[in-house]
Amino acid sequence: MTILPRVIRPFQRTAWIPLIKEGDNSVLSSKFGGTPWLAQDEQWPRCQHCGQPMPLFLQLNLNRLPEPVNETFGAGLLQLFYCTNTEPHCESECEAFFPFTQGKLVRVVEHDGCERSGEFPKNLQNFEPKWIVDWRGVSDYPGWEEGYASGIELSDAEWEQLTEAGFPRSGAKLAGWPLWIQGIEYPHCPICQSRMRLVFQLDSDDHVAYQFGDAGCGHITQCLIHHSQVAFAWACS
Ligand SMILES: [Zn+2]
Ligand SMILES: [Zn+2]
Repeated sequence: MTILPRVIRPFQRTAWIPLIKEGDNSVLSSKFGGTPWLAQDEQWPRCQHCGQPMPLFLQLNLNRLPEPVNETFGAGLLQLFYCTNTEPHCESECEAFFPFTQGKLVRVVEHDGCERSGEFPKNLQNFEPKWIVDWRGVSDYPGWEEGYASGIELSDAEWEQLTEAGFPRSGAKLAGWPLWIQGIEYPHCPICQSRMRLVFQLDSDDHVAYQFGDAGCGHITQCLIHHSQVAFAWACS
């Protein structure tokens, strides 16, 4: 086990690793893939660019998260739909890797508690559903770029040591420190312009069989004040 430099300790955050079961569950559960909750008479979300229904990547029930972060991100369901169509190639044509672009839908929806899902589109290539049954809390630490920006003074060797120890953590996680591939890329809230915070990190081929570019890593972010303002973006090397 790596002994971490003392000055990094105050910057420890807990990241929550999803523990999953194969298969779907209630439309109100947290899950990868599968069937989302939709409002009454709501059509399955379609891509703004190609018009095709978009698969669900992630749904988080914000009222059923681990106790320390439960309702931290507001109430209701956070959903990410993302267009995987390659003809046209919506991801590149819409620059879906940038926040606030088309070719995806990320939103927080208030639900009425009703176990309702829209009609599953016939031609939809959805992902294998994985139901998030629980979460495991683990320590997470920032990378050097964000560390410098936060005023953490470590030597290059110490940052290297943190990287080798696997921080910030790759893979799917709730909260913690983002693993930035191209540098710090927190979007700003369209309403108040303040910097958004990490809600969930979605990595390539981790729970959802999809590659963001070449092994890219994606982040769902949210305004601390305006919980309805959420964004999804990803970067690869
Ligand atoms: Zn599309
Ligand atoms: Zn805001």
